[in-house]
Amino acid sequence: MILTVCIPFPCLLSSLRELISNASDALDKVRYSALTDPSVLETEKDLYIRITPDKENKILSIRDTGIGMTKADLVNNIGTIAKSGTKGFMEALSSGADISMIGQFGVGFYSAYLVADKVQIITKNNDDEQYIWESAAGGTFTISPDNGPSLGRGTELRLHLKEDQTEYLEEKKIKDIVKKHSEFISYPIQLVTTKEVEKEVEEEEEAKDDKIEEVEDEDASKKKEKKKVKEMQTSNEELNKTKPLWTRAPQDINNEEYGAFYKSLTNDWEDHLAVKHFSVEGQLEFKALLFIPKRAPFDLFETKKKRNNIKLYVRRVFIMDDCEDIIPEYLNFVKGVVDSEDLPLNISRETLQQNKILKVIRKNVVKRTMEMISEIAEDKEQYVKFWEAFGKNIKLGVHEDSTHRNKLAEFLRFPSTKSGDELTSLKDYITRMPEVQKSIYYLTAESLVAAKTSPFIERLKAKGYEVLLMCEPIDEYCVTNLKEFEGKKLVSVSKEGLELEETEEEKKAAEEQAKSLEGLCSTVKEILGDKVEKVVVSKRIVGSPCVLVTGQFGWSAQMERVMKAQALRDSSMSSYMASKKTMEINPSNAIIKELAAKVAQDAQDPTVKDLTNLLYETSLLTSGFSLDEPQTFASRLYKLISLGLSIDDTSDALDSVEDSTKAEEVTGESAMESID
Ligand code: ADP
Repeated sequence: MILTVCIPFPCLLSSLRELISNASDALDKVRYSALTDPSVLETEKDLYIRITPDKENKILSIRDTGIGMTKADLVNNIGTIAKSGTKGFMEALSSGADISMIGQFGVGFYSAYLVADKVQIITKNNDDEQYIWESAAGGTFTISPDNGPSLGRGTELRLHLKEDQTEYLEEKKIKDIVKKHSEFISYPIQLVTTKEVEKEVEEEEEAKDDKIEEVEDEDASKKKEKKKVKEMQTSNEELNKTKPLWTRAPQDINNEEYGAFYKSLTNDWEDHLAVKHFSVEGQLEFKALLFIPKRAPFDLFETKKKRNNIKLYVRRVFIMDDCEDIIPEYLNFVKGVVDSEDLPLNISRETLQQNKILKVIRKNVVKRTMEMISEIAEDKEQYVKFWEAFGKNIKLGVHEDSTHRNKLAEFLRFPSTKSGDELTSLKDYITRMPEVQKSIYYLTAESLVAAKTSPFIERLKAKGYEVLLMCEPIDEYCVTNLKEFEGKKLVSVSKEGLELEETEEEKKAAEEQAKSLEGLCSTVKEILGDKVEKVVVSKRIVGSPCVLVTGQFGWSAQMERVMKAQALRDSSMSSYMASKKTMEINPSNAIIKELAAKVAQDAQDPTVKDLTNLLYETSLLTSGFSLDEPQTFASRLYKLISLGLSIDDTSDALDSVEDSTKAEEVTGESAMESID
């Protein structure tokens, strides 16, 4: 077995991680057999892993008090290099696999040769004598009875480090690696260090071999003198003091312990908002400890930044920070630990994605996170905090996660025309719906003020229907995907096809009004041309003269704004999605009535054209769109103001407004009908 290519840090990292994990497995085995026969522990009661660097001889020793190996085990488990796994690994290596994947081939022990050119295994199993196995990285090995110091029980691996790997005898390097990657191994990992210390010792003069002094002064021989000597002092430090909290039973852990663990995990200074600690057993086993923080980090949606969210462990061995495949992006605020019993130790990010075990873990993690959010929602005050911090995430979830969409929809909160200063859930909205009301109504707008004063909600308000007011850009995405909640359709009040429940009389009256305004509708459509798809009589407005509604499947005014604000949008999409506007006119509005009368008299009246354009532009604004040509609109308004003030059009006041004004006056057209 010759492994020559090696990048130093990952080598020791892979190697130590594998070997500590083997030691931990061996300890698991002996602990397990002690369950039925406690006497197996008599040969060595303490269960630990001890790392001892020997700088002088360049040996790194890893000792465990686990099950140990018999001679036969040594031959079968370690000695047979032609084990299929080793072969497989060597083949994979030669075709470009990464050395750090060694664990996947069930030959983790051989990672020792990444850092050592000679390895000795001294081992003692309760059923056999103590043996020493030895092999340089050449393929041959020897096994002989060991007459060195007795281990009692367990295994000591002695790695004779390669010349370029000796820096890993440094205390700090070992500590770093163990702390990061094996911190939560459930047995103590000790690091033995030897330091030279100066010590003061009391020494009798007599002891000195100096006869002259002895003759000169007899008393002096009794005098005691202090002297400094150098001495080697060995200390033993436990590296993994933070015990893996998730391996303990939830009923034995108090909230303070969870808090301390959460803080050490996330570096947060505040306690968590919620915690979920669970284990899954059966075909697949894993434990997880999940937390929801109180606040969102300021850069929650900065996608390029890697964060420490869920740490993945395999059998208490740390595998990776920020395991994206364990939790969907929209739940990126959940922190915690997942510890799998089944995943291979050296699983890489690439293989994780396809891993079936991980898919099951992910499913469970999401399910439990939902439970955690439901629990927060039981306390209104707590939920307000949660919603403020992570409401956007939930909305993103509704948009992205079709599997959990219905559950996530329960967590949504919006202001509404009836909720006052509070927010309402969809469930509560439904409880307030009048019996005749069939759908859930919502309006997306640029701000809450704009939404509350929008002409679109006039009729619904009059009917006593509640409207959800959605003012965040993401709401539009969220609600478009949600479509319905508990069998009730979500209907935009600013889009076409709004069917409000009507009595027979209302229906009849509406039909008559529509008929009587047919002339006005077609004239207005003619004047506005392609700016609107059609002009119809409205059922949704009460006070305003008209509104502009968008197609049921096209963008709303708010969405058009959002899309315009996106720097890298595809403009071909916007012309397709944004163009379908329908003008709805209010039959009971005085302006509309008057305009209709004017049209009936003379559809060609130039004032009709100008007023229609002005109405259109104003309704663009009140309906939440932006003006493409604000200057044209302004000119029309200035003219109107001038008329109101009886200012002569030819006067200076209007010169600056529009030059074309004068030109059209010559032709004798209406004072209003001149700007297009
Ligand atoms: P894996 O651990 O994936 O089976 P390894 O090459 O790491 O493969 O180890 C091979 C076998 O050697 C283990 O299954 C175990 O039986 C034995 N072994 C390795 N290290 C130890 C140890 N420290 N104590 C006892 N047995 C060990």
